[in-house]
Amino acid sequence: MQNKTLTQEILALAQGIHDYVIQMRRDFHKHPETGFVETRTSSVIADELKRLGLQVQTGIATTGVVGILDVHGASGTVAFRADMDALPITEENELEFKSQNEGVSHACGHDANMAMLLGAVKLMVQLKDKLKRRVKFIFQPCEEQHPGGAKLMVEQGVLNDVDEIYGLHIEPNIASGTFGLRAGATMAATDRIVITIIGKGGHASTPHLCVDPVVIAAEVILAIQTIHSRKVNPLSPCVISLCQISGGTTFNASRYCSRGNPGHSDYSLAQSKPIIPVRDFSVSDFRRDDLQRHSRQGQDYRYGKNPVQGIEIPDAAFDRGNY
Ligand SMILES: [Zn+2]
Repeated sequence: MQNKTLTQEILALAQGIHDYVIQMRRDFHKHPETGFVETRTSSVIADELKRLGLQVQTGIATTGVVGILDVHGASGTVAFRADMDALPITEENELEFKSQNEGVSHACGHDANMAMLLGAVKLMVQLKDKLKRRVKFIFQPCEEQHPGGAKLMVEQGVLNDVDEIYGLHIEPNIASGTFGLRAGATMAATDRIVITIIGKGGHASTPHLCVDPVVIAAEVILAIQTIHSRKVNPLSPCVISLCQISGGTTFNASRYCSRGNPGHSDYSLAQSKPIIPVRDFSVSDFRRDDLQRHSRQGQDYRYGKNPVQGIEIPDAAFDRGNY
């Protein structure tokens, strides 16, 4: 039998960790925790990393975990990153591994992201003798809130010794067995805006004596939508979502204050001021081509088709859009 290529070897090993990845994903899914309180999640990850023989750092950015796979004679460090937190959303299904934490669920799929990264750890431990770089596995807390755990992890030096970093996010619009790549920013960077409109209270029958903040809020909401159409380069994806509004307390009087709490998601790094200085961790053109070529080779072997898709920007907003 001819020698296996490294790609074939990786695919064979990947088949071997199939059940492990599913088991870990379901465990995380059953026990979801929101940002910065991922204590069980953090301890499960740390235990797994220790069991797999990695050096483990815990308590980074509160609940973050880093596993280090030292490689003999390594030149440089490459990092892989997954997010850990769940969302404050009630899960409505009856799966055997349904969320056990009332009102919290892994609705964004970070359970899968963590399980895949642990799978990658397992796989790379088996390939350790062939690795040329030291590998850092970064489990980041609190991706869902702004500014999130990434900023804290960077401030605590997690990336100081990292030469390249890669991350992925599960995407239900892409068929299983395939993955998507995109040039430039792939995920949105999120900003949060709170607007308070101060009016002058009064009775609904005498609007001329009041300054009605509810009407002003309605105009502001519509005007904000023209930022996208009038102020932003049409070739730059951008979305401004007004996610919460409150104002007034009764049907027949205008109150003095209306409060809007729009979420602002901006896909363009040029328009969105990064929350930390952006280091050039993005995949360069050369590396992207290289990655696509290797991916095709590897995946053709397994699936008999080209699994690499160009993707549209997903309709989501994430703090990692800044990195
Ligand atoms: Zn997510």
